[in-house]
Amino acid sequence: MNLNEISFFKEFSCMIKDCPNTCCKGWRVIFDEETYQRYLAEPGKNGIRLRSSIKKMNEEVYFRTSLKRCTFYEKEGTCNLQRTLGTDYMPLVCRMYPRFYQHYGSFAEETLFLSCPEAARLFLEHLDDLTFVKSDREITYERWGTNDDESYLQWLCELREAMIAEIWDETRNRADIFAELVAVMKEVQTSCIAGEKSVF
Ligand code: SF4
Repeated sequence: MNLNEISFFKEFSCMIKDCPNTCCKGWRVIFDEETYQRYLAEPGKNGIRLRSSIKKMNEEVYFRTSLKRCTFYEKEGTCNLQRTLGTDYMPLVCRMYPRFYQHYGSFAEETLFLSCPEAARLFLEHLDDLTFVKSDREITYERWGTNDDESYLQWLCELREAMIAEIWDETRNRADIFAELVAVMKEVQTSCIAGEKSVF
């Protein structure tokens, strides 16, 4: 099965203390079940420490925050949990972000979330090779998504390529291009929700 990654995927490295907007504050770090169970089973002082750092509400488990920052955030920009116990003890979302993994069934894609400043910088630095390349790595995660129509998925990939090509048309005004792309996507979404094959 094909695994495609954004061409600069492996270049990402967290800015840690130099990050202008750390992802360790401003939101709840929601847990995956595996990490939660690991914390519940952890013996000794570490177990007490881990369990006292989490909160459970409405079926969601997350880290307590202090001054709206993750309780493990250190002023040097490092994660105390990672530094003292290791990366394996971090919740899945912390180990992954800003990497984005999507297994579509017949292929998988890996890219970076633009909400991370360093990922955004890489996108801008790589405007000339803003494309997916084949990766030899194995896909280690489950298929996720609701689309079972392979031909529609293929069509969406081709549409994306066509839209990216449009962005590079230097003879046209960028604002017009983006307005047009948003309009196209709205129409595609509307026809998809209505169960129609798209008109493009
Ligand atoms: S937002 Fe990105 S660069 Fe900043 S701390 Fe998080 S992962 Fe690192």
